[in-house]
Amino acid sequence: MSIKDYSDDPEISISYMDLEYEDHPALQTLSCPICTCPAMPIVVRLPCGHIFCKAHILEWLKTNATCPMCKTEFEKKDIVEDKVIEEIINTLKVSCPQKELGCDWLGERGKLLNHLKNSCQYMTYKCIYSKCNYVGLTKDKEEHERICEWKPYVCELKGCNFKGYLGDKQHHENVCEWKFVACPNYLNGNGCQMDKIIRKDFQEHLWKCECFVKDLEWIIKKSDEIQEHQKNNFTYYEDQTKKSYERLKKLEGIIKTIEDDLENDMNTSKDSLMSIFMDFHWNPNDKNSSLKLSNNNLIVKYKKHSSPGCSWSSVRSSIPIPTYIPAFYFEIKILNFDEDWRYSNSIGISTKQAPLNQNIPPGSKKMWCYFNNGSININGKTKNYGSAVNINDIIGCCLIFKSRTLFFTKNGQPLGIASKRIPIDIPLYPTVGMYNNSIIETNFGQKDFMFNFLGFIDDLDNNEKELNDMPRNFVNESGDEYEYDSYSDEDEYSEEYSNRNTDSSFSESSFSVSDNSSDEESIASDGEQNESSLSVINSDITRLFSELFN
Ligand SMILES: [Zn+2]
Ligand SMILES: [Zn+2]
Ligand SMILES: [Zn+2]
Ligand SMILES: [Zn+2]
Ligand SMILES: [Zn+2]
Ligand SMILES: [Zn+2]
Repeated sequence: MSIKDYSDDPEISISYMDLEYEDHPALQTLSCPICTCPAMPIVVRLPCGHIFCKAHILEWLKTNATCPMCKTEFEKKDIVEDKVIEEIINTLKVSCPQKELGCDWLGERGKLLNHLKNSCQYMTYKCIYSKCNYVGLTKDKEEHERICEWKPYVCELKGCNFKGYLGDKQHHENVCEWKFVACPNYLNGNGCQMDKIIRKDFQEHLWKCECFVKDLEWIIKKSDEIQEHQKNNFTYYEDQTKKSYERLKKLEGIIKTIEDDLENDMNTSKDSLMSIFMDFHWNPNDKNSSLKLSNNNLIVKYKKHSSPGCSWSSVRSSIPIPTYIPAFYFEIKILNFDEDWRYSNSIGISTKQAPLNQNIPPGSKKMWCYFNNGSININGKTKNYGSAVNINDIIGCCLIFKSRTLFFTKNGQPLGIASKRIPIDIPLYPTVGMYNNSIIETNFGQKDFMFNFLGFIDDLDNNEKELNDMPRNFVNESGDEYEYDSYSDEDEYSEEYSNRNTDSSFSESSFSVSDNSSDEESIASDGEQNESSLSVINSDITRLFSELFN
């Protein structure tokens, strides 16, 4: 048995040969011999007494002339309808053709059409609304038509004319201007009494709602309070700004005072630097006996050969150069020298280890000096450097501690860097060397220098840079060039002293030559130092901080 799709059969007909009959003793007797099913309307009988479905026996008669059961001849006019038999067959019980879809109807065949047309819940059902594509079973009809989104919908609220489909209902109800809404201030009846306002009047109500007006008044009151508070704050900050400004003015005054003090200190520090220089003079106890000192131990005169072949004589200063100053400078004036000798005078620095007497040509280790013939001795090596000197020329010697730089001046003009590797961690002494008939006069700052030394240290970094930019190559007599700072023995020299401190190397030094002749003028130096400019600045900073935090 197959399910019939009644959607293709709007009139609803019964497919008799597909019916499922309940078992019955007369089932076979009442069947049509041609189709073997209980005969379907219209049921007919032949003169021989056999029954058939009218449609089937008429079809049979087209090619036959005898009864298919008993072979009795018959003609079309012999076929008669048998209403009694048909009614009997119609009382046989059949299942609903939609049984497999779920219908459990079992009834007389004659009542099947009525069941299918009026009560079967498993017939094909198509939604009645033309825009809807829903297809289901009869049993779903009621529920679908209740909720079908294409069911016509008309807004029922008084005043509203909206017409549409059920699918539009929810949206429309959310926006329908005729819907009642409650005032937001209703608060379950504790606030505004308006709980049914037509939506189109809602905005207008808000402006009139008593509760809302109260809220507005509250907000205005609050904003007034805030404004008042801000005004107070502004006044407060204005006061603070005035106070800060006054404090700033006061600080500016303090800074001005300090700047003035610093400027004075700069001048003071130049004065104290010069007073340090003026403590220097030649040491009568640290010179070769061939030399005679006079004029407060500032004039040096070569008086005689002390011994043959040992004629070059040196003298060192009474005290070593202090290392806490930025630079040291002194000058000598050539008063007399023997023009026949290439080496008659020298000016420079040495350690206590440099000998006070040497053979000609002189130039020992641990000594850095400029000779009257224009050459220099750098820790035992002689190089060409400047030009030869004459009587009344003034030669200066300058040592810059920060860069370990040594350079010489002639008649006030710098001659370029002589060395940048002076070992400043051991005591260094101004030193002059002399030979036959030489006389020099020394200026340790007792009078103005010919070289503008104070101007030079005023802007030490820039002036030293200019010095560095002067030609760096020395040319020896044969024309070979070599760098001034390439002396490897200087490094060895620094190494030798690197682990000593100033005090120990100072105490190790000894006076190798002593001359206590009574005609020498001796000046004792006092070790007292002037207050350094650093301590003056320190006290200013302390004063500034105490002003700031009080
Ligand atoms: Zn028959
Ligand atoms: Zn039949
Ligand atoms: Zn049914
Ligand atoms: Zn529908
Ligand atoms: Zn509406
Ligand atoms: Zn209200």
